Amino acid sequence: MQWLRRLFQRNRPQIPEVLWHDCVARMPFLRRLSDADLLRLKQLAETLLDTKGITAAGGLDLSDEIAVLVAAQAALPVLNLSLDLYRDMAGIIVYPSAFIVSHSEVDEDGVVHEWQEPLSGEAVNSGGAVVLSWEDAQYDLDDLGDLGQPGSGAACNVVIHEFSHKIDMLRGDANGYPPFLAKYHQGISAELWQQGFTRAYADFSARLDVLEQQLPPDFDPDDPACAAHYDALTAALPLDPYAAYHPAEFFAVASEAFFVRPAPMAAAYPEIYRLLSQYYRQDTLSAA
Ligand SMILES: [Zn+2]
Repeated sequence: MQWLRRLFQRNRPQIPEVLWHDCVARMPFLRRLSDADLLRLKQLAETLLDTKGITAAGGLDLSDEIAVLVAAQAALPVLNLSLDLYRDMAGIIVYPSAFIVSHSEVDEDGVVHEWQEPLSGEAVNSGGAVVLSWEDAQYDLDDLGDLGQPGSGAACNVVIHEFSHKIDMLRGDANGYPPFLAKYHQGISAELWQQGFTRAYADFSARLDVLEQQLPPDFDPDDPACAAHYDALTAALPLDPYAAYHPAEFFAVASEAFFVRPAPMAAAYPEIYRLLSQYYRQDTLSAA
């Protein structure tokens, strides 16, 4: 992590050009950006690393490349907005692979249930950090292949997912209704936002229900063969099935799709594409 150490010793941190170009080449969804956009993205990534910091956990060897890839993807949603949308974030923590989070819940009979869950990413509410699994973040980039060909189905991006949750959380608990900024979002109707997202969430949930009814009664999501069957069954959906879990997840998953591979989502939910385009102030369907 040679460069990152030097970065924090300088007054004006700068990502070296060669490193930046190598990282940009790993993110084909940035090809639509102009040179001026890319320069602004680089400056935002530098400021994010400088002000928030990125910390390795769980034995990760945090390379310069990892730091820049994470920061650049984190900066993309706020490219035409403001890093202030991340003000409620303590920092960025990166684990080498899925990390275990412990949960505890008391049921209506007063019985405490405790369980552990491996996560690929988490945005911690109320001033907490964004926590990421590098293995999963790397998988999302490798899985894109050559985006010169639009591809079909949903594309995932755990970094954009968690940072869009962070934006959403500025209003409190994430609910898919991010804060509207007076400077940028005067043209968006809160009513149209809520109607549009409510309608699309209901439609997507219904589409997924129809597919899940085709699953055998003994379906076990932890069985790799069953998981592969599920992936094949849901591959043609315009969004990752996790979008149906909660309206906040719908917003985060739709944000991933919007930035990484917008065409399938824009075709299925043009209203959501339009609202996200107005919100993020980017037209991700545009050619480079
Ligand atoms: Zn989520």
